[in-house]
Amino acid sequence: MWLLYLEKYELTEREKYTRNEAENMKPIVTYSFYKDIFFTEFNLGFGRPKSDTCLICDRIATCLLNPNIQDDERDSLTREKELHLRKAESAYKLLSEKSKLAKTNPKYDVFTFDFQQNLPCPNLSLSDIFYTRLLWTYNFGVHDCSSDDGIMHIWSEHTAARGSSEVCSSLMKTVLERKRGEFLVFFSDGCGGQNKNKSMNFFCQKLVEMGIYKSVDHIFLQRGHTFLPNDRDFSSIELRKRKEMPLIPKEWIKIIKESRLSKSFIVKEMTQEDFQDFKKASDETIKSTWKSETGESIRYRDVMWFSYGQSEEIDETKPTEHKGQVWCRYTCSPFENWKKVPIFKRNQTATANVSLKYRQCLGVKAPKLRDLQALGKKKVLPEYAVEFYNSLTVMGEGVDNENDEDYDEQ
Ligand SMILES: [Zn+2]
Repeated sequence: MWLLYLEKYELTEREKYTRNEAENMKPIVTYSFYKDIFFTEFNLGFGRPKSDTCLICDRIATCLLNPNIQDDERDSLTREKELHLRKAESAYKLLSEKSKLAKTNPKYDVFTFDFQQNLPCPNLSLSDIFYTRLLWTYNFGVHDCSSDDGIMHIWSEHTAARGSSEVCSSLMKTVLERKRGEFLVFFSDGCGGQNKNKSMNFFCQKLVEMGIYKSVDHIFLQRGHTFLPNDRDFSSIELRKRKEMPLIPKEWIKIIKESRLSKSFIVKEMTQEDFQDFKKASDETIKSTWKSETGESIRYRDVMWFSYGQSEEIDETKPTEHKGQVWCRYTCSPFENWKKVPIFKRNQTATANVSLKYRQCLGVKAPKLRDLQALGKKKVLPEYAVEFYNSLTVMGEGVDNENDEDYDEQ
């Protein structure tokens, strides 16, 4: 925002910023002054953008803008940025290498996965629904890199949440259906609530312990630097979305299927019976804090690569089996030594049964349900849609609607 202000009113200062000369900038309105006014005089808020920007790059750029920054602080930020860019680059290289491998070597299954932005219902013209809280449909996309199939798992917010258990359950369904190789590689971003958590650790270890794969690797990409094939899949749906007006969640199925012309997406409509409580299973079996076998504490947030089952040590070409341990790296470089971590509590394994997550309909929060049912009275919906919204129930007090916003890992 401040940069946009400079562009309009203090262009010469803005140009210094573009030339990486932030330290020479002397704007009339400084960043801190602008920020102060912006936060105290205006009541504006912004949602977190789904993609495109990298929070780490943004933070470093903002810190470097501070004209009073000390030399050593600037050096340390510059080093941090270089390291961060190198990490992003190696993750990108690994994704393209493994995608090629999936297409040429049938021993390797490579899947990338992500959530699309929530899809609203009813998707009417703005004037009819401007103040209405809409019902969300979730779309969890899995891209099979060997066939380039896009598999979309969809469900509505009154069916289930969008947290780690739902991610693992959807992956379990698709992996079991599509498995052809011995080695599995997953790529995703490192969103803590959904992709990088103990439920995922439990699920990947389970695939190995059940003998479905000899090894599973889960590699995290830096959002804003590397685009997953899922982003391309979702953009076809987003394009189609602008032309369509689904009134109830089921109508998204046909729209999603038909939104890629070259190769239709495969749509899986998820029901409550599909969702298992991986979070509960992992809470019961996996240690809350991790130490490597040499006693080093693992910085969970910094892990970029989890390896399950077997993997190569950096100085060996033959893989080593490590079923009792998860091996971790802080980078995507094959030259980093693995941290070897026994993650399970005493006498626990991932063979433990996973129970069903839902026993009853989740329902919809009361204010949202009121809004949706009021649309029926305004006569903007056809009868079948009115009936659908009238059939929804109110979410019970204290329902554990675990989702990405209120789930924090370590
Ligand atoms: Zn970045």
